[in-house]
Amino acid sequence: MAASPTQIADLTWYDFVERVKANPIVFLPIGSVEQHGPHLPLATDTLLPQALATAVAERVGGLVAPPVAYGYKSQPKSGGGNHFPGTLSLDANVLIGLVRNIVNELVRHGVRRIVLFDGHMENQWFLVEAADLALRDQAMLGRDDVKIIKLGYWEFITKATEQVLFPDGFPSWELEHAAVMETSVMLHVRPDLVRSALIPDGPAAAFPPYDVYPFDTGPIPDTGVLSSAAAASAQKGEVVLAQVVPDIAAALREAFGPE
Ligand SMILES: [Zn+2]
Repeated sequence: MAASPTQIADLTWYDFVERVKANPIVFLPIGSVEQHGPHLPLATDTLLPQALATAVAERVGGLVAPPVAYGYKSQPKSGGGNHFPGTLSLDANVLIGLVRNIVNELVRHGVRRIVLFDGHMENQWFLVEAADLALRDQAMLGRDDVKIIKLGYWEFITKATEQVLFPDGFPSWELEHAAVMETSVMLHVRPDLVRSALIPDGPAAAFPPYDVYPFDTGPIPDTGVLSSAAAASAQKGEVVLAQVVPDIAAALREAFGPE
């Protein structure tokens, strides 16, 4: 396999110095090790943001940092829950500290434009906290030229793409766990990891409007999939990428402004 010009992990330190001189946008994919039903791998939430961030980086001349492959604890309403075997999660303070540390390291070596590219819904507020603390660290060093953008790629999916994915009605992004969208994009980017014969077709989970701790496993489907994935296809995955990748690239160009 050839070295990729977008992956920091593939660069030498000499390459890194050269690339950072151009003030690239640096993407940090953040995922999880979390059950994704009988048909998708545990690393789904890491593989998807990695693939999408790489595609966006190719468009904007950016770099992709080695991903954070673990995430915050899976919740029943958005990930099936932390009790599923194989779901290996971090405590919030560990995730916040890890991302804050990585951001500070990137900045120490000259990076000024950073995207926290989330693939796991449960991470989101801890990424906000990590960004806030890292910016405070930098302010204390007298540095005010660092900009961080935090995004969940699913937020970019337009109504038109939603209609392609869910012609019979959209459940919700929470209930989309291991369902049509994630399965479709995996079928497009990593078909080798999808157990197509095992794609489940259960009814959507119904949760009460409150959370119970310890988890009430009653409303959680046995498969860990929160709504049917039967309508997934590689073609739908391709539609998602074709729309979301250029839209994220355009949004980042706008948000970061000229180099
Ligand atoms: Zn997922």
